[in-house]
Amino acid sequence: MKREIVKGKVQQHVSMRPFTSWHIGGEAERLYWPLNLPDLQAFLKTLPPNEPLTWIGLGSNTLVADSGISGTTIITQGALKEMTLTSPTQIRAEAGLSCAQVARFAAKNNLVEGEFLAGIPGTIGGALLMNAGAFGGETWEKVIRVETIDRSGTIHTYPASHFEYAYRHIKGLKDGEWFIAATFEFVPGNGQDSLAKIKALLERRAETQPTGEPSCGSVFRNPPGNYAARLIEQAGLKGYKIGDAQISEKHANFILNTHNATAHDTLALVHHIQKTVQAHSGIHLEPEFKCIGFFDTDSMCKLD
Ligand SMILES: Cc1cc2nc3c(=O)[nH]c(=O)nc-3n(C[C@H](O)[C@H](O)[C@H](O)COP(=O)(O)OP(=O)(O)OC[C@H]3O[C@@H](n4cnc5c(N)ncnc54)[C@H](O)[C@@H]3O)c2cc1C
Repeated sequence: MKREIVKGKVQQHVSMRPFTSWHIGGEAERLYWPLNLPDLQAFLKTLPPNEPLTWIGLGSNTLVADSGISGTTIITQGALKEMTLTSPTQIRAEAGLSCAQVARFAAKNNLVEGEFLAGIPGTIGGALLMNAGAFGGETWEKVIRVETIDRSGTIHTYPASHFEYAYRHIKGLKDGEWFIAATFEFVPGNGQDSLAKIKALLERRAETQPTGEPSCGSVFRNPPGNYAARLIEQAGLKGYKIGDAQISEKHANFILNTHNATAHDTLALVHHIQKTVQAHSGIHLEPEFKCIGFFDTDSMCKLD
């Protein structure tokens, strides 16, 4: 690798635990922190074409395998953080910004209807991939354009209409391309009211969810017309534990890492929930989080 042209940080054999909200999993073989977008472009050009490449934002929807991640992991948290008001109602935000930063920036510029983003503890890149949503709003409802980067460092721009989106899911991102920025359109309004709304929404959330404990947020998607948490609770599983992975007493769709949970424990608990809820209600629960890295057996990583 021609290191002299890359200014971002490259680290070898780094535990991923501090970089995911579940604090679970093994090491990244190589972890690269871009300094900025030109640095990322330069870095990508140094990689061999067959180098395995994994992207991670704030790791708030990710289970890293106990055996870690081979190849290069690109981490955007704290990097790719340019944000500009590109027109009176439009904001271009790079992929490593947190959703909360964008929500607050919108409010400070007297733009409203971005408040829901403050409830998503991930990056813009992760929110684009997941079509993250909260409090009735969804990321892609507000996107008008995205920029992606490919393995050669080339940047591509697409209108939002290039993508199809649904509940926690998008279609249209090409294999070998990743999000580097999005342009959002918000509505002119009262910024102070917007900041007050953000505060109220976050307070409401903290009352109902174990937000301060290691988790990935909701483990399962809500099935049509129902709630995963309700189904798990009705199956008598609140508090159930495998190793240090435990179903939250406060919100049954959260699995907490109570101390030193492994990815193996966590997936065993996910499968136990799926089997028990299926037997109790006949409903199959589909996981929302993403597995990253190499898992021991195919069956452990096969989530649905
Ligand atoms: C306490 C808590 C509450 C939560 N509440 C919500 C909620 O209300 N609504 C909701 O939707 N989610 C919620 N989540 C889940 C999570 O915050 C979202 O899915 C978020 O969008 C993930 O962003 P991230 O940066 O953490 O992604 P990561 O976990 O880092 O990555 C998620 C996936 O996106 C991919 N990815 C990351 N960056 C990029 C990129 N730049 N380009 C392409 N792919 C990329 C990763 O490879 C991975 O497959 C919650 C999580 C927690 C811990």
